[in-house]
Amino acid sequence: MHASATFTPAIAPVTPTIAPVSIPLRELLPWAVFGTVLMLLAIYFVGVEEGAMAIFNTMYVHEFVHDGRHLLGFPCH
Ligand SMILES: [Zn+2]
Repeated sequence: MHASATFTPAIAPVTPTIAPVSIPLRELLPWAVFGTVLMLLAIYFVGVEEGAMAIFNTMYVHEFVHDGRHLLGFPCH
């Protein structure tokens, strides 16, 4: 092999074409509402489910989310 030999790749580099996908608001809105409802339920159970505001009379839900409650800074005990 000579020192002046040049390297020619057998396969040409492929540059992918990336195009943004548009999501219509009509398709996005139900998922946004569903996510919001789930988020509000999670915030309720982590932050408010205790004492007079409790739906359940037992402390199971409160104890289950107790660490998350302290992690997020909700007042507890
Ligand atoms: Zn606590």
